[in-house]
Amino acid sequence: MTDSKSMTLAELTADITGLGEQPFRGRQIYQWMHARLAEGFADMTDISEKLRRACEARYQFTLLKPVKVQESAAKDTRKFLFALPDGLLIESVWMKYRHGNSVCISSQAGCRMGCAFCASAIGGLERSLTAGEMLEQVYAVSRHTGERVANVVVMGMGEPLDNYGNLLRFIRMLTDENGLHISQRNITVSTCGLVPEMIRLAAEGLQITLAVSLHATNDEQRRRLMPVARKYSLMELIDACRHYFAATGRRITFEYSLIQGTNDSKSDAEALAHLLKGLNCHVNLIPVNPVRERDFVESDERNVNEFKNKLEKYRINVTIRREMGRDIDGACGQLRQRHQEQMPGPREESL
Ligand code: SAH
Repeated sequence: MTDSKSMTLAELTADITGLGEQPFRGRQIYQWMHARLAEGFADMTDISEKLRRACEARYQFTLLKPVKVQESAAKDTRKFLFALPDGLLIESVWMKYRHGNSVCISSQAGCRMGCAFCASAIGGLERSLTAGEMLEQVYAVSRHTGERVANVVVMGMGEPLDNYGNLLRFIRMLTDENGLHISQRNITVSTCGLVPEMIRLAAEGLQITLAVSLHATNDEQRRRLMPVARKYSLMELIDACRHYFAATGRRITFEYSLIQGTNDSKSDAEALAHLLKGLNCHVNLIPVNPVRERDFVESDERNVNEFKNKLEKYRINVTIRREMGRDIDGACGQLRQRHQEQMPGPREESL
C-alpha cells in the first residue's frame, strides 16, 4: 500500500481525483495530515465517511508512537525512541530554545558510514526512511510536546545524503504552505561529506543550511575517524563546500567533534584555520560525546577554549555547541543502542 504521508500535494490530489473526487478534497486531506497533524483518516471530520473509508483501504498511514521518552534534568531536551511500522527503532530529539524549538530527526534506521566515534554506525544500515517517516517524526514530537516547531535539523541517525530522493521530498513537503510551512532557512541537513550529492544538492535551488561533519584537518587523520574520507579527500570536500556556497549563497556549518589527543591540539586548530581560509563558514566545536562501545575521550574544557581562541585569531566564526541532553544519551544513536542492549526485542516495551 502507498504511504499517504509520503505523497506530495500534487500526487495525492491526482490520486484522489482518480477516485472520482473533486481536486479540493486532495488538499483537504493533505492539510489534515501535514498541518493539522491528524492521527488517522478517522480524524478528518469534514471528509465524507465514504471517502475516509476509501482512503483507509487504499493508503498506509504512517504514525509514530514513542516507545520511550527521556527528558533532561534541565527539561530543555526530550529524546524520543520511535518504532517504525516494521519494528525498527529510530531516535528524534526535541530541543527547547528561547529563539524557537528545534526537532532533530533521523533519516535512516542505522547508518552505513561507519564513523568510529558514532553509536548509529554500530549495527550498520537497516534501511532508509521514507519521506513520511521523516515528516512524522516532526509531527509526533509536536503532538507530544504540544508546542510549535520552528527549526528542523536532519542530524539524527543516518546519512541524509545517502537517502537523497526521500530527503528532497521531505524538505519540499515540510516547507509546503499546506503543511507545517517551515522556512527553508530553518532547516539544516548534516552530512559526513558525500561529495557528488553535495554538488547535486547545490543545484536544487534550496535555501537550507548544509552542515558538514569535518572532525579532522588532514586526510590521514580523517580516514582513521571516518571511512568516507577514503573515498573523498579533504581537498575535494572543501572544494564541494566552496561550490555549495557559490551556488546557494548559504554559509556552510562545519561540525568538529573534539577528541582528546586525536584532533584537539594547537596545531590541529592551526591546520583547521588554514583549511577553511577564505571560506564563508561557521564552525561548531562539540566535545565528543563518549559512547560506551567506543573508547574516545572528550577534550577538556581548557583545550576546547584554547582551540576556539586559536580559530578566532584567524577570524573564523566559531561556537562551542551548548551541551544539551548529555544526561539522556544525547549523542546520535546512543539511546537506541542502550535500549537494544536492555530489551529482548524492539517490539516488547511500550510507553
Ligand atoms: N550522517 C550525518 C548526520 C548524523 S550525525 C553526518 O555525519 O553529519 C550528526 C553529527 O553528530 C555529526 O557531526 C556526527 O559526526 C556527530 N556525532 C556522532 N557521534 C558523535 C559523538 N559520539 N560525539 C559527538 N558528535 C558525534
